[in-house]
Amino acid sequence: ASGYTLLRDPRHNKGLAFTEKERDAHYLRGLLPPVCITQERQEKKIMHNLRNYQVPLQRYMAMMDLQERNQRLFYKLLIDNVEELLPVVYTPTVGEACQKYGCIYRRPQGLYISLKEKGKILEVLKNWPEKNIQVIVVTDGERILGLGDLGTQGMGIPVGKLALYTALGGIRPSSCLPITIDVGTNNETLLNEEFYIGLRQKRATGKEYADLLHEFMISVKQNYGERVLVQFEDFANHNAFELLSKYSKTHLVFNDDIQGTASVVLAGVVAALKLVGGALAEHTFLFLGAGEAGTGIAELIALEISKQIKAPVEETRKKIWLVDSKGLIVSSRKESLQHFKKPWAHEHEPIKHLVDAVKTIKPTVLVGSSGVGRAFTKEVIEAMASFNEKPIILALSNPTSQSECTAEEAYTWTQGRAIFASGSPFDPVEYEGKTFVPGQANNAYIFPGFGLGLIIAGAIRVHDDMLIAASEALANQVSEENFEKGLIYPPFSNIRKISANIAANVAAKAYELGLASHLPRPANLVKYAESCMYSPVYRTYR
Ligand code: NAP
Ligand code: MN
Repeated sequence: ASGYTLLRDPRHNKGLAFTEKERDAHYLRGLLPPVCITQERQEKKIMHNLRNYQVPLQRYMAMMDLQERNQRLFYKLLIDNVEELLPVVYTPTVGEACQKYGCIYRRPQGLYISLKEKGKILEVLKNWPEKNIQVIVVTDGERILGLGDLGTQGMGIPVGKLALYTALGGIRPSSCLPITIDVGTNNETLLNEEFYIGLRQKRATGKEYADLLHEFMISVKQNYGERVLVQFEDFANHNAFELLSKYSKTHLVFNDDIQGTASVVLAGVVAALKLVGGALAEHTFLFLGAGEAGTGIAELIALEISKQIKAPVEETRKKIWLVDSKGLIVSSRKESLQHFKKPWAHEHEPIKHLVDAVKTIKPTVLVGSSGVGRAFTKEVIEAMASFNEKPIILALSNPTSQSECTAEEAYTWTQGRAIFASGSPFDPVEYEGKTFVPGQANNAYIFPGFGLGLIIAGAIRVHDDMLIAASEALANQVSEENFEKGLIYPPFSNIRKISANIAANVAAKAYELGLASHLPRPANLVKYAESCMYSPVYRTYR
């Protein structure tokens, strides 16, 4: 290849880091200014530029440009500055990027499969330049973060998630495929927007929707085989539960909103018990919000308890209560409940308000998964503090404005006794001379390592026990030093090591369950996971 093509190929381009020798050997003389610099120096320069941008969206666009110009440098930046750049390439900035995707759209970054491609999805997949795909993240754009239906502009989400698969979980970039399925949008603003890039029609539903998704799932397996991981992301909850249960029997599928959230929250709860005491089975849980996140977390906790005390899950669910927009979920409501809520309809008289549910159920763990900001009022939190020495309070809703309470509220209303974590990040809080550092229950702790674990084992199906294995591995990474600050999650700066440990534990479980196809099983799975992880350091070209 000529030097000119080399410079324009993001997979190979090194920019000013091409050495003198490489410039001679690859026809690059004169195509670059004379100076040669190291990758570290390039990194320093770009970080400096990024920090100069005032607007988060500008940082996002600069990162996307870098990804399309020099892939290794992009990932090196992301890995070395993960705490700073995670909010840029992922939530919250990616949300704004999706909202404005039509305007900032320059180059397609993944595959678009719309109703127009019906009957041709296999052909579409073959148009993608990479053949060895290991992870697909797919959305239909109906519930992007907490922002609702963004139609085809949801593409920012699969792109961002896969960047994290590579940076945090070490999956090779060429093995990652972002896909957006466009069945229309019900977002009137977008339908009337001059520059909207998607289908200009109302969402297809029912059979038309199911048929397109079915063709997609069949084609994916046909083209990439049994071991490709399909992660469903940001589907509305009616479709999310259905797709997951339908395809988990025939495909390697994972829903991060349901299962990833469950795994990261279970890890936080398990870690919190080291501070609070008592076994999981001795605790009582109350959730505000009974959707993908709430019921997903509740089910995984019930499953873990049932393993620990060897009781049927139907029994262990009884210590877990959920409140939705109509109040406490109880048996008298059973007929009218969506199927994913039915297991939680326990015998109890109806209770309308959260605060009354808290006072009656007396939970030790209160989880917010409602998307309703400030729903954990002073009265609610004071009630938690009145019958718990150390109440565990998890305010998971995103973005920050939707958090059920702030870190400051959780600590001050409990006189510094709360064990608190949230979905969106909060700054440390000073209370009576002590500093409390709130943990962030970020799914990015789990899914990259989880995916890596499935891949190194050659897993063909996801099993709930693997989610529990991931939780255990994450909870084990919380150090004494972290606990002293009140943290129930480890710092993100160690995420590659955390991911390798999660991957190893997930892979071990896959082998144990007979769901692994890469044989023989490597003896040291942590080492093996680490050795499989993509490194963004430049290669030398001869
Ligand atoms: P979802 O499937 O739409 O579920 C939302 C649930 O909240 C529904 O059960 C809904 O009740 C309930 N709800 C809404 N308004 C309520 C009110 N005023 N009082 C009581 N309950 C109310 O959404 P999701 O995917 O579970 O996400 C929920 C929230 O969790 C979002 O803000 C999301 O950002 C956050 N989340 C955080 C993490 C994390 O921290 N790692 C991960 C995933 C999601 P009905 O069923 O009656 O409508
Ligand atoms: Mn999501």
